[in-house]
Amino acid sequence: MFDAIIIGKGPAGISASLYLKRAGFDVLVIGKDGGDLEKTQRIENYYGLERPLSGKELLDRGVAQAQALGIEVRSAEVTAIEKEANFTVRTEQGVSESKTLLLATGKSRIKADIKGLESLRGRGVSFCAVCDGFFYRGKRLGVIGSGAYALSELSELTRFTKEITLFTNGSPLTAQTIPEGLSIVPEPILSIDGTDTVEGVTTIERTIPLDGVFVAMGTAGASDFALKLGVLTNGTDLAVDSDFMTNVAGLYAAGDAIGGFLQIAKAVSDGALAAKSMIRRLKTL
Ligand SMILES: Cc1cc2nc3c(=O)[nH]c(=O)nc-3n(C[C@H](O)[C@H](O)[C@H](O)COP(=O)(O)OP(=O)(O)OC[C@H]3O[C@@H](n4cnc5c(N)ncnc54)[C@H](O)[C@@H]3O)c2cc1C
Repeated sequence: MFDAIIIGKGPAGISASLYLKRAGFDVLVIGKDGGDLEKTQRIENYYGLERPLSGKELLDRGVAQAQALGIEVRSAEVTAIEKEANFTVRTEQGVSESKTLLLATGKSRIKADIKGLESLRGRGVSFCAVCDGFFYRGKRLGVIGSGAYALSELSELTRFTKEITLFTNGSPLTAQTIPEGLSIVPEPILSIDGTDTVEGVTTIERTIPLDGVFVAMGTAGASDFALKLGVLTNGTDLAVDSDFMTNVAGLYAAGDAIGGFLQIAKAVSDGALAAKSMIRRLKTL
């Protein structure tokens, strides 16, 4: 059991981890990749850089700094989070638990542009297996996605029905564990069909009748986790109070995930302030 798990190894996540560790708490950082920072070729507006640095270099320095303090920084994709008394965080590699959790997952991006996806949202199109799976007991379902997150959503749905088709929408299947006998449709999707509710999915090769479609494209981001945990949002940004805590006790958020000024300086500051609040909470537990 960790005192804190931080999801995201960007400026917000690493900054928070330094404060938590230095206050004597057990902290685990889990990050899939370099996030937005890695896409940045040239940073020259951050404190202390006498010459421009690439985002990758700044990211590597941050991770090395955390590791030098003895913080475990795990490279993995978080596919699910559950909250009971504590937080349970799932990756393809395993499960970890913590007393507090920080979402520093960066900015949520719109992931799919499929005809019917928005117009049938809430009428057969769902973004949350744990929220809506129950309504589809014994029904025919499609899951759109090709990675670990899609497989995690799919495995949640197998509690309710066995009739599930995975649509990878032309993307290569990247999940490590693929259930034997899983029905997979690999070609690109043209539309999710239906007037009042979902009736099927049409790809460039065929139409498959369905009762519901669950969307789990790419990696689960802040708004996906928010949906599943009942976190309030402002659009795609997580809503936090002045202590950087969401409406879920013990669940904090920082950096681009909460919106505002989308810059490294603000992400680092958010991480530090969120850690300060987490430390205060951990001292009372
Ligand atoms: C092209 C570009 C150029 C930019 N240039 C500048 C600049 O010059 N100066 C500046 O100040 N800012 C710049 N920014 C903005 C800056 O990169 C961000 O504000 C900053 O990186 C936000 O930090 P963060 O820690 O909140 O999120 P990020 O840096 O995006 O980190 C998010 C972390 O969460 C992880 N993550 C997300 N989902 C999961 C999951 N399901 N499981 C595990 N890990 C997950 C990611 O892998 C990553 O480690 C730029 C951004 C872009 C896109």
